[in-house]
Amino acid sequence: MEPVLVSACLLGEAVRFDGGDMRSDHAIMQRWLQEGRVVSVCPEVAGGLPVPRPRAEIAGGAGGAKVLAGIGRAVDSSGRDVSAHLVGGAQRALAKAQERGVRVAVLKEGSPSCGSGFIFDGSFSNTRLNDMGVTATLLAQNGVHVFSENHLAEADALLQALECGHTK
Ligand code: SF4
Repeated sequence: MEPVLVSACLLGEAVRFDGGDMRSDHAIMQRWLQEGRVVSVCPEVAGGLPVPRPRAEIAGGAGGAKVLAGIGRAVDSSGRDVSAHLVGGAQRALAKAQERGVRVAVLKEGSPSCGSGFIFDGSFSNTRLNDMGVTATLLAQNGVHVFSENHLAEADALLQALECGHTK
């Protein structure tokens, strides 16, 4: 069975910066859980950050690729540089994905780690930027197809196509 890496907060784990979760009750997510194909990860907790923690964004309108390259940084709302935590968490998420043979991931939209369609621009003013977070970027750079929770049907279709050998 084709595994799928999923952000832990979407699975109801209370790992978000505010101590809460973003549990998805979507039928596709619930079926994946029943099928036993879900691999859970919270990159920020894996990277050593506590729960709760200050909100973090990638500074200066940059995206995850620049943080991974060491030319951008992630900071929290108190101004602390948390780049090493986000990069370390991304590396752990990738290692987990590779151990389990993951080719598809569904990650929480908007997060500086997990965002795939948008993140926030580092001004802590709820300004969106069309870019990817650190973990989403690292997974994509290593061949994992990354979707957000807003594209579960597309992710499910890809899982089925991979299982049938219709795509790679
Ligand atoms: S790092 Fe990802 S999995 Fe962890 S709380 Fe943030 S969005 Fe959810």
